[in-house]
Amino acid sequence: MIIVVRPDATEDQIEHIKQKLQEHGLQAHVSKGTERTIIGAIGDERILRSVPVEAIPGVEAVHPILKPYKPASREFKQENTIIDLGGVAIGGRIIPVMAGPCAVENAELTLQVADEVKKAGAGCLRGGAFKPRTSPYSFQGLGEEGLQYLAEAGKRTGLPVVTEVMDPRDMDVIVKYADVVQIGTRNMQNFRLMKEVGNYDKPVLLKRGLSATIKEWLMSAEYVMSEGNHNVMLCERGIRTYETATRNTLDLSAVPVLKELTHLPVVVDPSHAVGRWDLVAPMAKAAVAAGADGLIIEVHPNPEEALSDGEQSLKPALFAQLMEELRPIAAAVGREI
Ligand code: PEP
Ligand code: MN
Repeated sequence: MIIVVRPDATEDQIEHIKQKLQEHGLQAHVSKGTERTIIGAIGDERILRSVPVEAIPGVEAVHPILKPYKPASREFKQENTIIDLGGVAIGGRIIPVMAGPCAVENAELTLQVADEVKKAGAGCLRGGAFKPRTSPYSFQGLGEEGLQYLAEAGKRTGLPVVTEVMDPRDMDVIVKYADVVQIGTRNMQNFRLMKEVGNYDKPVLLKRGLSATIKEWLMSAEYVMSEGNHNVMLCERGIRTYETATRNTLDLSAVPVLKELTHLPVVVDPSHAVGRWDLVAPMAKAAVAAGADGLIIEVHPNPEEALSDGEQSLKPALFAQLMEELRPIAAAVGREI
């Protein structure tokens, strides 16, 4: 940590700053320039996380050197983390595609979509049973009944299933049926939920908050990991900007940025990012080219009748076509779909 001292700081104040650092087991290295004085705090500066260094008289600014996240960081672990999603690996050469309806609507539809996406080469089946809808009057999901349909479809096709948890109280029932637990964008900073999910060993798909910075997002991953569950995937699903042509703005640069900062697998959800079925394919392709380790895509056989997110859902035939078109792009970046 580098502490910039105010130009008008007294010698007593500089001495006091040094003492404060020493009290916390750090050494203070004072460097007096012609214009300004800076103090380097030598040692593990994370000790100072809960110390309001800016409040010490004479301090103008504080610049941490270490990242605020630890197990999630690339410094902590150099090699990419590969997670077993229940027979399907993510984080390695193969890019699994998770596909399925936004919401589990009934048994028949879930089985039908599962068959179709499996045939097209998907690696996992997605589907929400607890839906975080913007309006309380919209379809809220089938709850445990939906989980049963999802698990049944997963079993029949051999696809691991991904589903969202909204409430820590639902974890026990969700882990009975699901292979991967999704944390939705609206809950990325629900820290009680993060901690609860961190107490289970199910892989976690952590979606980026609507307006979350990459640092905040990694801190949420850190919440899960600090409880012991290190099987976390980060999912970019578009962020809120001033643009209204698309539902959100897909921040594709987050993919290479995350690859530098963390060893955790990075997934891209083009469906929720663009909010329009006709834009899903180009952004899915761009995501693979940018280095995504996985994709999650909404598929519905009859989007105009879908109970949620029909406008961004691909029909199975279009999804199958997209899968074919993704293969050469994956090969071009040394990966496989
Ligand atoms: C979803 O995957 O259906 C969903 C609600 O996603 P998000 O949390 O990204 O909006
Ligand atoms: Mn959806």
